[in-house]
Amino acid sequence: MSIQKIGVIGAGQMGNGIAHVAAQCGHDVVMMDMQEAALEKGMATIGKNLDRQVKKEIISENEKGAILGRIKTTTKVADLGKMDLVIEAATENESIKAKIFREVDAVLQPSAILASNTSSISITRLASYTSRPEQFIGMHFMNPVPMMKLVEVINGIATSTKTYKTVVATAEKMGKTVALAEDAPGFIVNRLLLPMLNEATFALQDGVADVVSIDTAMKLGTAHPMGPLELADFIGLDTCLSIMRVLHTELGDSKYRPCPLLVKYVDAGWLGRKSGKGFYDYSKEPPVPTKRA
Ligand code: NAD
Repeated sequence: MSIQKIGVIGAGQMGNGIAHVAAQCGHDVVMMDMQEAALEKGMATIGKNLDRQVKKEIISENEKGAILGRIKTTTKVADLGKMDLVIEAATENESIKAKIFREVDAVLQPSAILASNTSSISITRLASYTSRPEQFIGMHFMNPVPMMKLVEVINGIATSTKTYKTVVATAEKMGKTVALAEDAPGFIVNRLLLPMLNEATFALQDGVADVVSIDTAMKLGTAHPMGPLELADFIGLDTCLSIMRVLHTELGDSKYRPCPLLVKYVDAGWLGRKSGKGFYDYSKEPPVPTKRA
């Protein structure tokens, strides 16, 4: 099956990146979000990222116009009815995703494929909210989507080989490399990465070191391009907390318990870069820690 029209649900950090790369490799894209403001912000981000590509001479000004011209936006699920593939990238919350999948499943043509960009929620369970579990799959892009080469592809228990092959071909057309993961909490990347980010928060909470020292130690000591607290801010602390809760609940091991300090930041609305404040305060240049230890 060849995919031409791609729907993206959620215009946040991940959704606008997925819409960008899908349009850049020639797909007609409809990006849907419940909030008009999120769609405007998402399109502005795509525009800025394309400007950067023009400056680096990766694309021409004409190509930028053509890419933007292939992306339509909407606040209505019904406008996704003619899509061949819909990739859901809404907030990491199972009840939100369940509602979205029930609604979109009802308007899609029978042959269409549904994918979720979830970081941790069971693909098999998300598929059960639809009438097409054999055409349901996990397609986990990395942040920032236009830069990062990996897509984890996750088969649910019922995902068909045809769906898997179609989605791998689509990800490869977007210039991505696929790693196949089993449908287990956190898949590969977040099963390994999130416990480390959570542990960095425990180190901060326990007074092992301050924010800057933890990040500096991991950047210079282990050659990570970003420190763990900086990276948690980049991912979004609400998303990090949701993933830890899924790992903890579904694997039942206390080593995955979310750090209370992480919960506190999220309770405060300090969600990281996207809200302007997390472990760092992004109103300052360069950003400064919001907490000394
Ligand atoms: P985000 O908070 O930046 O964006 C989420 C968007 O979903 C918002 O614009 C919100 O308005 C929209 N939304 C919420 N409910 C909706 C609904 N019912 N219908 C339509 N839109 C709705 O979040 P994000 O970082 O882009 O994460 C999105 C998904 O991608 C999550 O499942 C997350 O786990 C996953 N993910 C995130 C990262 C990351 O680094 N942030 C990486 C890989 C995967």
